[in-house]
Amino acid sequence: MKTPVIYFVLPCYNEEECLKNTYDRLNKKYDTLIADSLIDKKSRIVFVDDGSKDKTWQIIGKLASLNENTVGIKLAHNVGHQSALLAGLLFSKDYSDATISMDADLQDNLNVVDGFMKAYNDGNEIVYGVRGSRKTDTAFKRGTAQVFYKIMRSLGVDLVYNAADCRLMSKKALEQLAEYPEVNLFLRGLVPLIGLNSTTVEYERDKRIAGESKYPLKKMISFAWDGVTSFSVKPIRLVLGLGVLVSILSFVVMIYALVRWAIGQTVDGWAFTICSIWLVAGIQMISLGLIGEYIGKIYAETKRRPRYFIEKVIK
Ligand code: UDP
Ligand code: MG
Repeated sequence: MKTPVIYFVLPCYNEEECLKNTYDRLNKKYDTLIADSLIDKKSRIVFVDDGSKDKTWQIIGKLASLNENTVGIKLAHNVGHQSALLAGLLFSKDYSDATISMDADLQDNLNVVDGFMKAYNDGNEIVYGVRGSRKTDTAFKRGTAQVFYKIMRSLGVDLVYNAADCRLMSKKALEQLAEYPEVNLFLRGLVPLIGLNSTTVEYERDKRIAGESKYPLKKMISFAWDGVTSFSVKPIRLVLGLGVLVSILSFVVMIYALVRWAIGQTVDGWAFTICSIWLVAGIQMISLGLIGEYIGKIYAETKRRPRYFIEKVIK
């Protein structure tokens, strides 16, 4: 088997404090991989500058012009981690046999690459890096992440537990990923939809080497919300369910109100008012849920997701 051309893709947003160190460490790994004939000499390290406001692009430009194994891509403005990563992946797919994506702070321990290469050589098209203990993450980040994965599961979204965006994807997998035209990107949910042979490799996540997290709480919440709303119509169903529940309750309330009216325990008009409130509320909520069902269908249609991929044909 020929040694594969691997493109390492790293999205960078205001990472001037990390980049030099990241390059040195990754380049060392790169040299070892070449020496061990695990990757081809045409392999590259691709830095995607996601519209940084600091010196990130100047540093990337310098690295790319000085080193043959480095490529720099500058996005015109900040589009967020997911879109920046996708830009790097889709750029790389035409030149490589597979890509390995990592964060620019190299929190993902580089030894994971060995596991990736082994799994790839075993015939896997997608290899997910899965965080082991997450002991370097704050208790808060760990806790919220756990709740997030649980909620996503219960909403019926297929996620690989504790797998972030550190993964290997073959050319074939990338070509299929390119078929998804959606704008609200949530790669963690999208990649498992591709199918193909895949496996996971566990790794330890280190501390950020320098600078601070580009995912403050606000971005984390909006990322999680994107994940839910891009993949599930269950929240809409919840409204319909609630409507049915309120309608059923309204009959109970009606019986109660009628009984009190019949035994003369009510003031004039009370029973009528109470019954109307509950009945109308139930009908309104069911109607909202019904409209929601149609919106859910429209939402699924507008995504224009591919319906299937043919993996093999035997003739
Ligand atoms: N990032 C990006 N665009 C953004 C925010 C982040 O490209 O708008 C990159 C960032 O440079 C890093 C990766 O996304 O390479 C993950 O960010 P970070 O390490 O800050 O997240 P954390 O590890 O704290 O979840
Ligand atoms: Mg990080």
